[in-house]
Amino acid sequence: MGVPFVDLKAQYHSIKAEIDAALIGTMESCAFTLGPEVAQLEKDFAVYAGATYAAGVNNGTSALHLALLAAGIGPGDEVITVPFTFIASASAIHYTGAKPVFVDIDPVTFTMDPAQIEAAITPRTKAIVPVHLYGQMADMDPIMAIAKKYNLFVLEDAAQAHGAEYNGRRAGSIGDAAGFSFYPGKNMGAAGEGGITVTPHAEINRKLRMLRDWGAEKKYHHEIIGYNMRLEGIQGAVLRVKLKYIEKWTEMRRDAAKRYNEMFAGTGVVTPVELPNRRHVYHIYQIRTPDRARWMDELGKKGIQTGIHYPFPLHTLKAFDFLGYSQGQFPHSEKIAAETMSIPMFPELTAVQQEEVVSAVATLAKQTELQPA
Ligand SMILES: *Cc1c(COP(=O)(O)O)cnc(C)c1O
Repeated sequence: MGVPFVDLKAQYHSIKAEIDAALIGTMESCAFTLGPEVAQLEKDFAVYAGATYAAGVNNGTSALHLALLAAGIGPGDEVITVPFTFIASASAIHYTGAKPVFVDIDPVTFTMDPAQIEAAITPRTKAIVPVHLYGQMADMDPIMAIAKKYNLFVLEDAAQAHGAEYNGRRAGSIGDAAGFSFYPGKNMGAAGEGGITVTPHAEINRKLRMLRDWGAEKKYHHEIIGYNMRLEGIQGAVLRVKLKYIEKWTEMRRDAAKRYNEMFAGTGVVTPVELPNRRHVYHIYQIRTPDRARWMDELGKKGIQTGIHYPFPLHTLKAFDFLGYSQGQFPHSEKIAAETMSIPMFPELTAVQQEEVVSAVATLAKQTELQPA
């Protein structure tokens, strides 16, 4: 039968009338870039994320990039992040002229290990970018404590973590700013590209709004050299519809994750760990195997789609050669990158589809000598 990795069509069809009305409404209003729908989305998303301000931008990478620029980060500065993430986390740092500095992840949650941070701090360090990978928030309390001690700006990379929580606090409500992505495959996806930065700081918000719109608060009064990184009106309209459903979809993801956990019990397959003080929103549901290529191949033959998030830690990529890192420097990132595998996860995933995935994986697990976690 086969199981897709994600099913964007199922989601569209479940709210088709509202999405279609949002699309047509934008065509009628002709508010194609920023405009009232984006302004309302910003108000509502700020509330959703537990933040004060929000600014819609053209994608999640810009949401991170502009937050760092608004914080005054630039050439000569260093920004600490993790190598086990999507390349955008470090690219956004590089775009400002600052240098990405990596620290390894915790092998249980795959998020930044706070115990590694202080050794990476130098007089040039200006910020920390923890990544809420797969939908589980990084260990924010110790990260914020270190940031306070060294006077560092904290930008949460919340691209995969809409609605995730840490000690009851939402992704986007703890750091000095957070960047979210509305890429179609993310938990809350636009009809194209989109992103948003949230912050509790009025001045960061003001600068961000200027930066995304040619450096002007008032048309033609350019105070700084900015960019064209505005969120489109059509995305504002579509995302406002989706914001009504994100909590329901998140609970559906969490239910699906719980079913997977129960179905995998006793198979020896290593499943995700959700720490007791977190609300994991399961953007990705990952398993681990030293025999990944074969598993993916076998599952693919059965029509079960899988992915790898992410096969190469950033410090081993050619693009980041110039940073001077070498293989072996971040052992947890390297080992997990070699073994992690993502299986189908989306809100509409059914128990029947999950049975198909789990029985195929369990068969493979019997053939592979699994290492204890
Ligand atoms: C998707 C993603 C981004 C970038 O978001 P875009 O909207 O694709 O630009 C940044 N960081 C992480 C961790 C992501 O998964």
